[in-house]
This record gives sequence, structure tokens and C-alpha cells, in this order.
Amino acid sequence: MPRPIYAQIHTDALRHNLMRLRQSCTDARVWAVVKANAYGHGLANVFEGLRGADGFALLDLNEAQTLRDLGWRGPVLLLEGVFEQRDLELCSRLDLWHVVHHEAQIDMLSKHKTQVPQRVFLKMNSGMNRLGFTPQAFRSAWARLNALPQVDEISLMTHFARADDAHGVDAQLQVFQQFSSDLPGERSLANSAAVLRHGTRDEVSADWVRTGIAMYGSSPDHGLHDAAHWGLLPTMSLRSQLISVQPLKAGDSVGYGGLFTAAYDITVGTVACGYADGYPRHAPTGTPVLVNGVRTRTLGRVSMDMLCVDVSALPSVAIGDEVTLWGNASTGQVLCIDEVAAAAGTVGYELMCALAARVTVSVV
Ligand SMILES: *Cc1c(COP(=O)(O)O)cnc(C)c1O
Repeated sequence: MPRPIYAQIHTDALRHNLMRLRQSCTDARVWAVVKANAYGHGLANVFEGLRGADGFALLDLNEAQTLRDLGWRGPVLLLEGVFEQRDLELCSRLDLWHVVHHEAQIDMLSKHKTQVPQRVFLKMNSGMNRLGFTPQAFRSAWARLNALPQVDEISLMTHFARADDAHGVDAQLQVFQQFSSDLPGERSLANSAAVLRHGTRDEVSADWVRTGIAMYGSSPDHGLHDAAHWGLLPTMSLRSQLISVQPLKAGDSVGYGGLFTAAYDITVGTVACGYADGYPRHAPTGTPVLVNGVRTRTLGRVSMDMLCVDVSALPSVAIGDEVTLWGNASTGQVLCIDEVAAAAGTVGYELMCALAARVTVSVV
């Protein structure tokens, strides 16, 4: 028998979360962001659940090819645009739309030989200072693109740095509007946090939203609102089993470094899940976990292939019992990935993306 760890991807939950996001931005079309192999879920694994989106947004040309191979004929957007000249040939062949965030990409477009002009999303750096033209350079970049026979429709986009916190979107929104309001074209601004928190404002939802994390059932502002608050359901469950159960006496320690020492007699379960499966090594003692659907805590340091849990309060545990690291237990109880992430000092995004290749994934 293979190691008993596995992940499930929940198609109905993907559909539900997508619908939930649409409710927060009534008129906008939705880019389902599926970069990083659909946030670790597997592009092919989420396709059925997300095919109700208006388009798919990603980074990697291979992933764009995969989408076309899966039969998706609708819009596909490259969020970082092209990386080199010949990428534009693939854009033509696969009919990909692409972001233009740098002069070098306009240079490439000007040299591209094509009969069919390409749809582009011109990106403004409105304050995140990662990608995009400065507000002052935006208009001339637009004019340059607009003069190229290789370019079809030009849409305008920007990305919020702090849609998930109290700072919000107003400052960047104001910059974006000030420097683009008289340019024609569709607009795209909002990520998950902006949609859930500010999406009822038409100028935030605009023509296209770009939602990732919330579609995957993780709250973009977990410290303030959890996934249940936003009506989001887990789309990935990571489950394994107990492979050992043993009593410990007061004073006994658990795992490498003996980081946890029992203050009184307890029962410890050992789970076939470690950091080589993608579970965060930094998750400390006390990180929540479900055993047979009952909430308990991890003990001691996470090792490569195993971690330990406190099963003292569960009277009749045995080898083979189900452990849910995040997502849904088979009995229906939920442990949100955000709680595990918070305990480990990170975010749901990182845990999903880190799911290791050795974990068997199935779509349910
Ligand atoms: C990743 C990404 C998104 C999606 O962000 P979420 O917080 O996951 O909703 C949107 N836009 C761009 C440009 C991105 O890179």
C-alpha cells in the first residue's frame, strides 16, 4: 500500500466559490487566476469546477497550452506578459491575450510578424511598485501600442497592494483613474480581496476582475474575516492516517529537538505527513488538526515524513484512523487552511502551492 496521504480537489466547492465571487461584482467578467498550477491544485483538476469563468489568467505558456489542450476556447491572459520575442508566436498560435507592463514588451510586439493583431492589457504601476508603467509613462505607452498594427484592443489594468487591509484600494484607485480616465478600453483592477471587500463599487469591479485565492476557499483577509464569513468552501483537502499511537508519561518529549514535553500523561498519534508532503515545517505545537473529524493539535517539530498529534481526548483511536491536515474531513467537519497557515506564520496561498508532487491528488 502506498503511504496513506492524499489530497482531494472539490469541484462543487470551486463552482460555489466562483458563484460567490460573482455575487460580489455583479457586472464584471471573471478571470479565474490559475497561475502556479492553479494554486497547487493542478490545472486539469480545477478545470471542470472553474470552466464557468469568463477566462483564465496565468503566467506560464506551458499552462496556457494545457488549457487549450483541455479544450478551453475562451480568453486566456498571460499576467506577466511575454518573456521573450518568440513567446509572441505562441500567443498568436494559441490566441493568448497578454499583459504589457514594460517598454521591452512593446519593442517585441513591434517586431512580431503576424496577420492577426493581439489583444493586450496595458498595466499601470499605481503604487505597488512591482510591475507596470508609471502613471506618467502610461499614456505614451498606450499611444505606442495603439500605433502598432500588431495590436488589437488595448485594455487597462493595475494591481492593488493592500486590498486586504485597512489601507484599502482608494489611493491606488485614484492614481489609476487620474492617469487613465480619458483612455478608451476595458478595465481590470480587482483581485480576490478587492472583490470581496470593495467589489460592490463599480469602479473597483470594472470590466474584469482577477480572482485567485478566494476561488480556492481561502480568505484573502484572514486576520479580519475568515472563509466562513465570506461564504467560501475549501477546495483542497489534505488527509492522511495515524500510523502509530502510543502513551507518553509526564516528562516525555516528542520529535526532533524534543520541542514538546508532556506535562502530564498523554496519548500521541503519529501521522504520515511531513514537510516533504508540503505541510509547513514551521507549524508549531498547537497547530490545529482533525483526527476522525475531531479538532486537536500537533505536538513538537514537523519532520520530513511525519508529524505528531495529541489524541488524549479521543478515547478509541487506532492505527489507520483519518487525519485531516486541512480542508474537509470525510465526516464533514472543516479545518480551514487559513488556520493552519496562520499557526505556521504564513498564508493559505503558500500552503496550497507547496503541496508536494508525491501526494496523490484526486478530483471529487
Ligand atoms: C495572482 C494575481 C491575482 C489574483 O490574486 P488573489 O489574491 O489570489 O485573488 C490577480 N492579479 C494579478 C496580476 C495576479 O498576479
